[in-house]
Amino acid sequence: MKYQSTRGRALALDFEDVLVTGLATDGGLYVPTEWPKLTAETIAGLAGKSYAEAAQTVMWPFVSESIDRAAFAAIIEDSYVGFDHQAVAPLKQLDSDLWLMELFHGPTMAFKDYALQLVGRLFDHVLAKRGERRTIIGATSGDTGSAAIEACRGRESVDIFILHPQGRVSEVQRRQMTTVIEPNVHNIAIEGSFDDCQDLVKAMFADTALRRDVGLSAVNSINWARIMAQIVYYVTAAAALGAPQRPVAFAVPTGNFGNIYAAYAAREMGLPVARLVIGSNTNDILTRTLTTGLMQIDKVVPTLSPSMDIQVSSNFERLIFDLLDRDGSAVTAAMDAFRETGRLDLGADRVGHMRSLFDAARVDDDGTLATIHDMYRTTGELIDPHSAVGIAAACAVERSSEVPLVSLACAHPAKFPDAVEKATGVRPPLPERHADLLEREEAFTVLPNDLGAVTRFVRDAARTVQAA
Ligand SMILES: *Cc1c(COP(=O)(O)O)cnc(C)c1O
Repeated sequence: MKYQSTRGRALALDFEDVLVTGLATDGGLYVPTEWPKLTAETIAGLAGKSYAEAAQTVMWPFVSESIDRAAFAAIIEDSYVGFDHQAVAPLKQLDSDLWLMELFHGPTMAFKDYALQLVGRLFDHVLAKRGERRTIIGATSGDTGSAAIEACRGRESVDIFILHPQGRVSEVQRRQMTTVIEPNVHNIAIEGSFDDCQDLVKAMFADTALRRDVGLSAVNSINWARIMAQIVYYVTAAAALGAPQRPVAFAVPTGNFGNIYAAYAAREMGLPVARLVIGSNTNDILTRTLTTGLMQIDKVVPTLSPSMDIQVSSNFERLIFDLLDRDGSAVTAAMDAFRETGRLDLGADRVGHMRSLFDAARVDDDGTLATIHDMYRTTGELIDPHSAVGIAAACAVERSSEVPLVSLACAHPAKFPDAVEKATGVRPPLPERHADLLEREEAFTVLPNDLGAVTRFVRDAARTVQAA
């Protein structure tokens, strides 16, 4: 299996190199040169299998040339054994034709664990094999930092530094990061805003000497391995609801387009996916694109679903690549124009093509709260604001009663207790394993918003590397 860049100018790589490279050298994102096929027998054979067994079957063709089968099986087993639900990604029925897939049973109670727990271990495995180390640096406004830290904690070949704006993340979010006490985990509270944190990270990535000396790397959402790991739960959900005979539809609360792109990938592999519903909050660039054909940047506004407060959905480029017939130079021209002007006209034909599979709906904060309220009233389920955007979008678009619709619950309601309480009057408790979060010991370093100070800290704390 080879992977090619969406911009067409970077060398095709194998899985191992794609994993550690992340973004292609031409600025593009890696996609498989062709999709491995899930046959009807394979899908039927997944019914009744464990999540780990299904994960092996679905992902093996993507990695088989880079990783030994027994090692891969052990890594998968280890990735999901710590989840606090034995089904890993359980389905809950909400209505005769509506299901909720709970993706919050990992260590940080959000769906990013499903990919990052695996990616952290794969990273460690590949780097150990190569005798290399990497230093991961990232900025977070809340959620992604903790999922990345949990993925990297205690890994031999990786040091991780996560910058957060001091005093500007919620206590639960901060503690999910700062109570991970490991020699390779470094939390830095920057005296500044989230944008300052991001600028510092960008500047460190632009520092060639630092990049080389500490082997800088990122585990952001454009990494192909994260998409790959997310394909698995679409397949297990469809198999549980009657695939390959019966098609399914999915509704996905969408920010960077990584999660819903994995559903698209599952369909390209042969999973009978009838419809994909994009749920947007007020930051609705994707919904507007699907409606008008024009992708146009707007200002980011804060909402009750902060993990979706994004204007440019980086993984959307992977879909554009297919819409432009996998023509790398056309994608380069389109993305350059988009960066320059803040707009990209996809054209009626391409958007028509996209609409044959995708629907989209925008849900504002009032709609989000109303949906949380309704779900509690009609099913007794407490759902978080991101999950509510998915369900509200699912209910806003036309559906077929023959096709069960699975809406994704991307975060545990206890991660967003204020919104849930406001909508229902009930404050969702933290799951038992996190119940002592507010009492655990914390460790973090406060640094000024100063590139020199942060760079020095990273150089001192990172273990020596011989990375390429
Ligand atoms: C990251 C995240 C999203 C958005 O997922 P994308 O893959 O970026 O589209 C939605 N909800 C929650 C809770 C998240 O953490």
